[in-house]
Amino acid sequence: MATVRYGGHYNQPNLNQMKMQITTTNVNIDSRNRPNNIRELMCCSLSADFCEVLERARKIAAGMGYKLYVAGGVVRDLLLGIECLDIDLVVEGDGIELAQALSKEYNGRLRLHPKFGTAKVVFPNGVQVDVATARVEFYQYPAAMPQVETSSLQQDLYRRDFSINAMAVSLNEGSFGDVVDFFGGRADLERGMVRVLHNLSFIEDPIRILRALRFEKRFHMNLEAQTLKLVQEAANIKMLSRVPNERIWEELKHIFREPRPGEVLVRLIDLNLWDCLFPGVVPKQVRQVLTQVSHSVKLLRSWNLLEPLEGWLVYFLAVLHDTDWTNAGEICRRYNLSKRYTIRVAAALGNWRRLVNNLQEPLAITCSELARQVMLLPREAYPLVLCYLNDSASRRRFRKVLSSISCNKPLIKGEELRKLGYKPGPLYKKVLNGLWQARLDGDLRTKQEELSYVQEYLTKYEGR
Ligand code: ATP
Repeated sequence: MATVRYGGHYNQPNLNQMKMQITTTNVNIDSRNRPNNIRELMCCSLSADFCEVLERARKIAAGMGYKLYVAGGVVRDLLLGIECLDIDLVVEGDGIELAQALSKEYNGRLRLHPKFGTAKVVFPNGVQVDVATARVEFYQYPAAMPQVETSSLQQDLYRRDFSINAMAVSLNEGSFGDVVDFFGGRADLERGMVRVLHNLSFIEDPIRILRALRFEKRFHMNLEAQTLKLVQEAANIKMLSRVPNERIWEELKHIFREPRPGEVLVRLIDLNLWDCLFPGVVPKQVRQVLTQVSHSVKLLRSWNLLEPLEGWLVYFLAVLHDTDWTNAGEICRRYNLSKRYTIRVAAALGNWRRLVNNLQEPLAITCSELARQVMLLPREAYPLVLCYLNDSASRRRFRKVLSSISCNKPLIKGEELRKLGYKPGPLYKKVLNGLWQARLDGDLRTKQEELSYVQEYLTKYEGR
């Protein structure tokens, strides 16, 4: 059993006892007849490059007298049949020494974190491997950064967040491919449960609340009943507000990049966790948009008119869209958003509503004016606009405007103006803009018509 200790700041007499209790009562290790050795599965699921690196790593570790394991999310993904792009190794021994030897052998790049006993090796073929020394973490007080000490594999796995992330696979002689599962992670994977390893997990590290919801939605799982209760308790005492904003933002960005971020965000609203993350943002209207926004992204993609979107910003805008700028600006500052992105958020919040209204009542408004309004928005706000267009006519109109912006460009460019004898200057921008507007509104169709327009415009404004 792991010995996670607490410093004197956290005045709770029976912490270790409580942790042990839940571990022993809740773990119901499934004893179904499935092979415990997944060597073949590993060989099929991992790329040849990864397999070669693992083979080499295990030989080096054996030569050093160390035990070596693949551990954490990668084991979960292997068992679920999901492609693994990163591999985490845990060494019962000196992880840094092993990483150094491995990178030397392959001429890889090495990044060391001696304080945590971890290292990253990037091989010339792009394969990346994280190597960690088996460790146990001590929390000085709830939500503190952990202190680290070396330990055994079992202790290392016990410090992890959920049973499904606390499995390992042996790479050692005689047990290569054996799944090491002290906490019933495999059974939880099979029954679709996200379960913490002890009842103080969210107190130790409240960020795990966000991770729990992320995995729950990513894998279509459920929070195990006791874990759900612990989330609710942590929400009641606002544990998340003790976590530094940078860590919250890191995790929020992970959420925004999930396959279905909207579902995770809605779950945050339903579990009363919203306020700690987005204070002042009223979730009522946001909830509706969050359930629709991924559908809007798909629809926009199907129109083939979108350059790639920054996915996280789509969801961040969906979260903030109904909030006034004073509050939204505060959230941007809270999460230290760069000036470039803050400007985009402000542009979206200031302009999306008018565009929606104008797309829904189009009679009095020209296509060029709609295009101008669209171009005031960052493209990550387009899915938001689409969420509010609930009749097919206004959606068609939006599509037409987007298509005009990308396809209906004037035939005359600055180069032609120069050939006509006009010196480059601010007037170029004006005339080309006027040309573009006239074209969008269907007033100009041929190059000849555009030329006449330009000449007329320039004569009028330049007096030429
Ligand atoms: P993803 O597929 O999102 O990368 P992952 O499980 O691989 O998921 P990482 O953030 O790369 O996530 O973490 C690797 C492993 O480290 C996890 O599987 C888990 O065992 C452990 N871990 C990560 N964060 C925590 C945490 N806050 N508390 C405890 N263990 C953690």
